[in-house]
Amino acid sequence: EPVLTLTGIEKSYLRGTPGEVRVLRGADLVLNAGEAVALVAPSGAGKSTLLHIAGLLDMADAGQVMIAGDDMTRRGDRGRTATRRRDVGFIYQFHHLLPEFTAAENIVLPQLADGASRAAAQDRAMDLLARVGVAGRAGHRPAALSGGEQQRVAFCRALANRPRLLLADEPTGNLDPATSDQVFDALMELVRGEGLAALIATHNMDLAARMDRVLRLEEGRLVAA
Ligand code: ADP
Ligand code: ADP
Repeated sequence: EPVLTLTGIEKSYLRGTPGEVRVLRGADLVLNAGEAVALVAPSGAGKSTLLHIAGLLDMADAGQVMIAGDDMTRRGDRGRTATRRRDVGFIYQFHHLLPEFTAAENIVLPQLADGASRAAAQDRAMDLLARVGVAGRAGHRPAALSGGEQQRVAFCRALANRPRLLLADEPTGNLDPATSDQVFDALMELVRGEGLAALIATHNMDLAARMDRVLRLEEGRLVAA
């Protein structure tokens, strides 16, 4: 069973005004567990819009969003929020770590909020940090870490509560090319290790080519690249 299915997704901004922008015009996607799919398109094509709809942060005008077999278009706000918190992890270009907490605490806190014990949360945080090569930085605050280290910590935080679906919007976009490569490897390590379904928007064709499939957003639809 797919983790994410999008069927006929349509989305416009400023609907019904002269400035209407039709961004998505029947986008379809089937994303399975264990699969990393690259989403490539020029700026303004609608990548963020698609990720926000897939992650239940925004509503489509038409079409169906299914997460783990559950038709989210039939759920209310509470059901959508519950599914988002349980099943979806988000990664952005800028990491938004909490500056007054250490790297490990940034990964522990969402787990405590989700009902985990402190010991289990701590173990999980250290395991994730080790898998992306920053265990030695666990006790440091974000300001004491390099950009690449901060971003790796942010990946760990996004996966802290074991989501099934990972949505990433230019996850290495603010890093220099060499760091970006390393950090991308760390991300793929987590995606594979956790058996996630991942949809990763990127401008970087080299990184895209290292995923299982590449999709382009073209005139509001997803097409194989
Ligand atoms: P991408 O992530 O590919 O750069 P976006 O999804 O951010 O694209 O945006 C797609 C299009 O929708 C762009 O033309 C953008 O200007 C427009 N857009 C995005 N959000 C809004 C909004 N809230 N109101 C009006 N237009 C928007
Ligand atoms: P919390 O459990 O902290 O209240 P939410 O359920 O509101 O978090 O959001 C879950 C995830 O969605 C978070 O990882 C956050 O990064 C992302 N998120 C929430 N609101 C927005 C938004 N308006 N724009 C982008 N990402 C968001």
